[in-house]
Formats: sequence, C-alpha cells, structure tokens
Amino acid sequence: MLLSAVIPVYNEAESLAALHAELRAVAAANQYDLEIVFVDDGSRDQSWTIVGELAAKDPLITALRFRRNFGKAAALDAGFAAARGDIILTLDADLQDDPHEIPRMLAELDLGYDMVSGYKQVRHDPWHKVLPSRVFNWLVSRMTGVWLHDHNCGYKCYRREVVREIRLYGELHRFVPVLAAARGFRVGEIVVNHRPRKFGRSKYGIERLVKGFLDLLTVKFLTGFGERPQHILGSIGLLSLSLGALGMFYLAVVWTLSRIPGFEPVHLHQHLPAVLYSLAALLFGGQMLSMGLLAEMITDRVSAQRDAYAISDRILSGTDVDLSNHREHGGGAQGNTEKAEAMIDE
Ligand code: UDP
Ligand code: MG
Repeated sequence: MLLSAVIPVYNEAESLAALHAELRAVAAANQYDLEIVFVDDGSRDQSWTIVGELAAKDPLITALRFRRNFGKAAALDAGFAAARGDIILTLDADLQDDPHEIPRMLAELDLGYDMVSGYKQVRHDPWHKVLPSRVFNWLVSRMTGVWLHDHNCGYKCYRREVVREIRLYGELHRFVPVLAAARGFRVGEIVVNHRPRKFGRSKYGIERLVKGFLDLLTVKFLTGFGERPQHILGSIGLLSLSLGALGMFYLAVVWTLSRIPGFEPVHLHQHLPAVLYSLAALLFGGQMLSMGLLAEMITDRVSAQRDAYAISDRILSGTDVDLSNHREHGGGAQGNTEKAEAMIDE
C-alpha cells in the first residue's frame, strides 16, 4: 500500500526540511511505503530551492512548481493528479499538522471511511481566526448536512477514488468533505494535534470569511442543484411570475370596476406601488426562468464530459467485458486537462 503525502507550499522555506524529516521518521517507524508530493504554489522565498535540495537526496520526493500563486485548492488539485498512492494524505507545509498523527488517521480510515478529516480541537491560532472559524463550520454543517467540527482543516486522508473524483478550483479546498459526501463517499473526522506556527506567517486573513460564505453558497448550489439548476432558479422564477400576474390581475379588476358608473374612479398614483411591484415581479420571474434554462443548457453540455452519478461497485457477468472505461470520458479515465476544464462540480 503506497501512501502519498501531498503538501501545498507557499512561502514556507523554513519549515520544509523539518517537515520532511518528521515525515520520513514516521514512515520509517511504521514501515509505510511513502511518497512525498510537494506542490510549490508560486512561492517567492527559497521554498523551491529547498524542495530541490531535499529531492536531490531523497528519491521518494516528487515536486511541482506553479508559475505563479494559484491558491491552495489548485495546489491540492495538481498534487492529487500527481500522487500515485492508494491512500492520499494532505497536510500543511507549516508544521502545524503533526505527522505523528498519521497512524491514527489511517486507522480511522480503516474503520470504513473513504476520507478522514482532521479536527483541530485545541487550536494554536489567534482568537480572531478561531472564533469566525467556529461559526463558519457550524454554518457549513447546518447548510450541507455534513456535520464536521473542522471542514477547513488541511490535514486529511483519502482513498484514491475520492481524489480522482473531486475537482478543486478557486478556494473550494474548504469544502472537500462536502463535495466528497455529495458523491456518496463516507466522511469521518478525528481530533488531531495542532501546533503553533513556528516560521513564516499565515496566508489567510479576515477576508476569508466573505469568500468562504460565497463559496458556501456555490457549493450548496452545486451539490444540491448542479445537475438540475432549473429546479431552483425556475421555482423562484415561477413564484415571482405568479405574484406579478396576481398583482396585474388585481389591477385589471380595479381598473375595470372603476369604469362602471357608480363606482369610484381610480387614479394611477393610488396604485403606483402595486403597478411597480407587479411589473418588477414579472420581469424578475422571466429572468430567473430564462437563467434556469441557460444553466440547464450548460449542464447538458457538461454532463457529456462527466458522469452525474458515482458507481462504487460492479458485478460483471461471466460473458461481460470490463465496462469501467467504456466511455472515454468516464470518471476514472478522465485526464487532468479535462479535469481542470470542467468547472462545474456537482
Ligand atoms: N498555501 C498555498 N497556497 C496559498 C496559500 C496557502 O499552498 O495561496 C498553503 C500554505 O503554504 C500552507 C497551507 O496552504 O501549507 C495552509 O496555509 P496557512 O498555514 O497560511 O493557513 P492557516 O493555517 O493559517 O489556516
Ligand atoms: Mg497554518
């Protein structure tokens, strides 16, 4: 069983040698067949030089270097594509994730999970980071139904099928457990030892809150309605159209009645609010419906490149040929270029 450690690196020069030594020590003590994949996410310090020096001495190191900083999600995605292991481990390069926890993570995975996520129960980060993170985790769990204490923990391990199927772009690395669960994978969580940052500085500030919330909306939409966008957009559209139509009907009745002698005449200004609201509702409803149709068109095209379902097991009859790769674009046979191009995740 080959274990790949995928490590995104962005300006972490001082930590790399120590991290490498710790990983090697843990692997030696537990007799793991190890591979280390460093992904340098466009560092501007000595990180790449140091990775080069380590790799010159250690044949177990594979390394990639991005031309510029593309973000942690991109680094993980590239690392996943390069990793050859049966089990893929991700950990931060800043020594905050303790490699000595690896045996416990693997043991947890063996309990029947497809991925196990770390939980930094005792965090060594400033309060203005810990508190918003608590709220964020609760909100994500609440909205997605994937109840974890620590969605955004960089320390995770996966069976290879998971990383073959999940596509990370933008800053979606915060939502790997949600994306995995949406594909039917079983997600576990264990408490891991978290250490204070010794070198360098954190790459994320307070702005991650806003981005994280927007990404939560994206992920909620993609996992819930990614294959049927019209169901949500169209529902809102229909509701709005009906309200607008109702308003117009009411106005028509009032105006008609006012023409009949004996009824009080109406003036436009009395009904201006109703006119405006009804008109806006009609226009908005029409917009939503046609946006839903556009979204369906995109989904239709994208679904030709990617299965909307996930098969976990297969029983072949004696006469069958192996069908697992019958479509060139089928999940497992997917090339990485296609992977990066298909932006719509479920
Ligand atoms: N990282 C990265 N690209 C980025 C930002 C961060 O590869 O654009 C890496 C970083 O080098 C580290 C991990 O992602 O290995 C987590 O970053 P950081 O420790 O700054 O996050 P925090 O622990 O403060 O949440
Ligand atoms: Mg960190």
